[in-house]
Amino acid sequence: MLNKINWQKVNNLLPVIVQHVQTCEVLMLGYMNSEALEKTLAEKRVTFYSRTKQRLWTKGETSGHFLNVVDMSLDCDQDTLLILADPIGPTCHTGEESCFHQFETQSEGDWSWFAKLERELAARKTADPATSYTATLYAKGTKKIAQKVGEEAVEIALAAVAKDRAEMISEAADLVYHLSVLLQDAECGWQDVIEKLKQRHQGIGLHPEGSNK
Ligand code: AMP
Ligand code: ZN
Ligand code: ZN
Ligand code: ZN
Repeated sequence: MLNKINWQKVNNLLPVIVQHVQTCEVLMLGYMNSEALEKTLAEKRVTFYSRTKQRLWTKGETSGHFLNVVDMSLDCDQDTLLILADPIGPTCHTGEESCFHQFETQSEGDWSWFAKLERELAARKTADPATSYTATLYAKGTKKIAQKVGEEAVEIALAAVAKDRAEMISEAADLVYHLSVLLQDAECGWQDVIEKLKQRHQGIGLHPEGSNK
């Protein structure tokens, strides 16, 4: 990788975009010289060359908020690096998850919020039930969670038939939340559901209704 980079073109400082591996949120942008890149490759943790500090800067060196490297790719003409990272804590020094948090529009980027929620729900598996409703659900077990999903499914169906839009949204939130907990309880997640939906999408029109089991 090091040899492929067009260092001359980037004046020995390669722009690096860091993206959250799960939510694809853009976390930050920094620059690497070859030394920073070598250190990053060796340690599997993002190290930049800080133009302000004028030295190698391992993101998280004082805060502990490291960016663990999962994968990386150069762009088409080898002058920009994109890193997929698993961040430890917030990436921005303001405490925000991403350095880019000043948008006025809420866009489709909000889809990634599901992934964020899912990670928190997964973390609740080891939480104290006294402090968390989600932990209470796990503690009560699969049957209880499944029952909640059934209840919420009926509730959204009733709201839909009643043409109560606000109630539908509220029940959809209940349903998605409880379904997410049920998936976690069964050691699966939305990524598995997405994979299944993708498979089915490829077969669109080929299967009669109900045969996609
Ligand atoms: P850290 O690398 O997280 O230990 O932070 C050390 C110092 O780097 C902070 O005090 C900030 O001055 C700076 N810093 C941390 N995170 C960022 C960031 N995402 N963008 C720019 N500067 C940062
Ligand atoms: Zn390029
Ligand atoms: Zn920041
Ligand atoms: Zn409900």
